[in-house]
Amino acid sequence: MNRNLVRKLVPEKLRIRLIMLKMQLKSLAYTGDTFYCNCCRKTFSRFLPYGNIPRENACCPWCHSLERTRVLQAYLERETDLFRRERKVLHFAPEWIIRKRFRQSAGRRGYYSADINPALADHVADIMQIPFPDETFDYIICSHVLGHVPDEKKAVSEMYRVLKPGGEALVMTVIDPDNPETFENPELTTPEERFAAYGEQDLLRLHGRDFADRLAGENINVEVIDYRTKLPPSENRRMSTGNGNRELIFRCTKCRDQRTPERGN
Ligand SMILES: [Zn+2]
Repeated sequence: MNRNLVRKLVPEKLRIRLIMLKMQLKSLAYTGDTFYCNCCRKTFSRFLPYGNIPRENACCPWCHSLERTRVLQAYLERETDLFRRERKVLHFAPEWIIRKRFRQSAGRRGYYSADINPALADHVADIMQIPFPDETFDYIICSHVLGHVPDEKKAVSEMYRVLKPGGEALVMTVIDPDNPETFENPELTTPEERFAAYGEQDLLRLHGRDFADRLAGENINVEVIDYRTKLPPSENRRMSTGNGNRELIFRCTKCRDQRTPERGN
């Protein structure tokens, strides 16, 4: 059966489930104990290579978590109480395994996943026009989304709008450490041009070392967390947590008193 016919006949959610199932069967070929995925809690002889310039041991054969997914999962589990108590959490473009962890957790009733594709999340939402009232959420998780949205400023202001005072947005993106400033050129419109300029064909910009400044605002404190540095080297190796270009967590806290923003850290 040709691919287009399959697309027409099989709903996208079911197609995704079948792909996952196939992937999980294939993961049996990687039985072993050298690597550990803290997202699906399974061990393997190795992870799969991943990326346009393939990164070795990047992708979990069972759940397809990447280095950044495992760092985010470790941070959420160890540094927040989101899996242990009910908080209002909005998770954009959810990694399916983290979404699964939330849905199995004590915090599941406060958890909202959102994506523009209804097959990938519980709520259909455009991050540039978030369909929730002001000050709804305690936490927002937004990993590797802001490089892809046409109007990044609008997306950031929308996230802060729906965040409660005292709430936190945990943001991740690809960072080019060699570039002090984010590079974007709206004249690059083809996948080939974007791939050549940004390293991925669906990126609209490549963030530089100014990313924290782009997230900062009058009432927003931004702390850059390299959570890999909190983990012992053996755990970083076993979980394959990357080189820090994709795994930094930008923790953006909305000040409680908006007239006297806190500074520091
Ligand atoms: Zn996994």
